[in-house]
Order: sequence, then C-alpha cells, then structure tokens
Amino acid sequence: MSVDFLIETAKKIQVVINDNSSEIEKLDQEIGDGDHIFNVQRGIKLVIELEPTIKDLIMSKALNQIAMKVLSGIGGSSGALFGTLFMTMAKGNSIDEGIDYKKAIEIFAEGVEAVKQRGKADVGEKTMMDVLIPVSNCLKKGVEDDKDLKEILKEAVEVAEKGMFSTKDLLATKGRASFLGERARGHIDPGARSSQLMIKTVCESVINS
Ligand code: ADP
Ligand code: MG
Repeated sequence: MSVDFLIETAKKIQVVINDNSSEIEKLDQEIGDGDHIFNVQRGIKLVIELEPTIKDLIMSKALNQIAMKVLSGIGGSSGALFGTLFMTMAKGNSIDEGIDYKKAIEIFAEGVEAVKQRGKADVGEKTMMDVLIPVSNCLKKGVEDDKDLKEILKEAVEVAEKGMFSTKDLLATKGRASFLGERARGHIDPGARSSQLMIKTVCESVINS
C-alpha cells in the first residue's frame, strides 16, 4: 500500500459517494440531522486536495496529515471517528518499511478498535460500527486462516453489506438517532451506508488491480 494508492482510492470513493449522495442524504434526514453526506463529501474532497502535500511523504506522515485534515475539517461525529481511524493507522508499527496486505489489515483493525473506543459503540447500536467491526473481524480471520487475498476481500464486501442492512431494524443507542427511540426502526443508518460503500470501493479496487 502506497500513498499513491490512498489518493487514487480516495478519488474512486468520491465517485461512488457522489453517485449515492441523495440516498445517504435522505437516510440522515430520516434519523439524523441531514448533514452526514455533506461531512463525508467534504472529508473526501479535503483528502484529495492533500495530494500535492502528501504524495512524496512517508506513509506515517501522509496518514497523519490525512487524519489531521479530517479531524479539523469535518464536523459531526464522522469527523472525530474517521480522524481517529486514520490517526491510529498512522501510528501502525513499522509502516514506513512497507505495507503488504497483512500489514494493511492489521493497521485497519487497530484503527477500527480505536474508533470503537472513541465512540463507545459496539455492534448492534445502529451506527457505522455495524459495518466496520464485522469487516475488521472478517479481514483478520481471513489472514489467520491463510485465505487468498481476493477471497478475503470478496467476503469483506459481503459482510459490509450485511452489516449495513442489519442496521435497518435496530434501535439506535448511540448518536443522534438514539433520540428517536422506536421511530429510528425501519431506516438504515447513514454512517453504516457510507462506510459500506467506502469498504466496497477499497476492496473492489484491490480485487480488480
Ligand atoms: P452527526 O451525527 O454528529 O450529525 P454525521 O451525520 O456526520 O454526524 O454522522 C452520523 C453517523 O455517525 C451515524 O449515522 C452513525 O453511523 C455514526 N455515529 C454516531 N455516533 C456514533 C458513535 N458513538 N460511534 C460510532 N459511530 C457513530
Ligand atoms: Mg448528521
């Protein structure tokens, strides 16, 4: 995994998120305050604009710049949570010596664990964690079982989709949607949908590379 890969992937994610923006906007209007799509689109734009600043940096510094930009530039819960993800990945052990897929999975899993601590949300609370935690577990298990990378990633895409759909019938116990009680049931969580689309894009971009 290189800094170039990060930037190219951010560009692919931008296209996918833009293609699905009205759906994501509607989801946060239904159970949140409607700004989730704006926060996500702004975050992606800020990361892509970092290209000239980070393209020649070592991985830890590039990831750190991305984290700072996301933390300072995006409002809402998503800014703090995605900022934590990148900040933790930036601190990954020996990442400047090269990142193979096992290392990439290891630092992603550490990032997800940090987001879980930061937001104090676990699986079943109707948040993006219903996508991120199962995906992280699936990736780690795939490495442990010594599965083929493409198989692991295909499975992760499916796990992400399942996690995203699972939020529909859940009650929310974290975030703004928790104020709605029973009224949140029947709606997919916006953060789960945007995270699922991002995971799908990253995995498919590696599968097709
Ligand atoms: P805000 O809720 O502050 O308006 P966003 O609209 O950008 O922020 O993001 C909302 C998404 O954030 C939710 O759909 C949910 O997935 C996620 N979220 C909210 N609170 C938490 C939390 N404590 N842990 C993990 N994810 C959370
Ligand atoms: Mg919101």
